[in-house]
Amino acid sequence: MHHATPILVTRSSMPPLEEYEAEIASLWESHWLTNMGEKHHQLEQDLRSFLGVDHIALFVNGHSALECVIEAMGLSGKVITTPYSFASTTHAIVRKGLTPVFADIKPDDYTLDPACVERLVDDETCAIMPVHVYGNLCDVDALAEIARRHGLKVIYDAAHAFAVERDGISAAAFGDASMFSFHATKVFNTVEGGAVCFSDPALAPLLEQWKNFGITGTESVEYVGGNAKMNEFCAAMGICNLRHVREEIEKRRHVAERYWERLEGVPGVRLSLPQPGVTPNYAYLPVVFEEGEFGATRDEVYEALMALDIHPRKYFYPLISDYACYEGRFDSALTPVARHVADRVLTLPMYADLSLEDVDWVCDVVLGARR
Ligand SMILES: *Cc1c(COP(=O)(O)O)cnc(C)c1O
Repeated sequence: MHHATPILVTRSSMPPLEEYEAEIASLWESHWLTNMGEKHHQLEQDLRSFLGVDHIALFVNGHSALECVIEAMGLSGKVITTPYSFASTTHAIVRKGLTPVFADIKPDDYTLDPACVERLVDDETCAIMPVHVYGNLCDVDALAEIARRHGLKVIYDAAHAFAVERDGISAAAFGDASMFSFHATKVFNTVEGGAVCFSDPALAPLLEQWKNFGITGTESVEYVGGNAKMNEFCAAMGICNLRHVREEIEKRRHVAERYWERLEGVPGVRLSLPQPGVTPNYAYLPVVFEEGEFGATRDEVYEALMALDIHPRKYFYPLISDYACYEGRFDSALTPVARHVADRVLTLPMYADLSLEDVDWVCDVVLGARR
């Protein structure tokens, strides 16, 4: 049986070329290519209605969005966050001069454990930065309650959670702010891009200013801001991709369900199934291999797949607290659940156009890696 190889861990969604061409044609008339132009405004409006939120600001990428929201809120001190995430989450905290404090995650959905967060709050804590890992929603109610009791901000890294809803409410609605990434590898992309959804309207002008050099008027610059504006070509890509994102998620659902059908109930295989009441986006296909029961280590499964030109990803490994750039600063033994998962997890290929035959092939190789 012939399989199209390599099979990469992801493949970016793109609109039909003609649709994108039609979308950008007006830029050849206006010659307005960036700085909050027509496409930028259109995409903001489209996202407000798609996500059901009142306040959104677009950015050049998700990481800059996270840094800007920290700046706009004027935070300083400690931020309680998770070591089980992409570099961006902790890097944003450190790059803005704050101190990350790592709490452990829950073994079922890999999101921050509110009980661990609560134990770490002290007088210097200013915020909690949880991550909706793989699109699994955090325990938003428990985190809101902790934040309320201690007067903390909650900034969600919702990079994985585009279009995820709980009981019909968008992930964008939780906390003081939620950052979305529209990177090429995400469920919804603008090539590179990102957004912040927020609850306090007073943040709107601050985010606009911080992403544009701190410029507050034609003759005034009040903040030492950077440049984090989304350009018109990226916004146009977003306008087009948003029209198709529901279908793309539906295609991802078929892929995920095939994986689950093949892998559910296999001893030593832990899947990340949809949470009760949550509408998932099937962003990733994480599998945790408990080597004793499964009969192979995560690294053995990884090697078996790579040998056949199938490219999974050890996502997230290593833990952020084990990165070389943070050597000597943190102790990952203090977050044992996160360490256990990071040592055993593999995200398998997952994208809308992955064929069910290829899913079967990937599963055959995974299961065949057992001794
Ligand atoms: C992708 C991602 C980011 C960063 O987003 P960019 O748009 O690539 O800057 C941050 N956090 C998590 C968890 C991500 O997956």
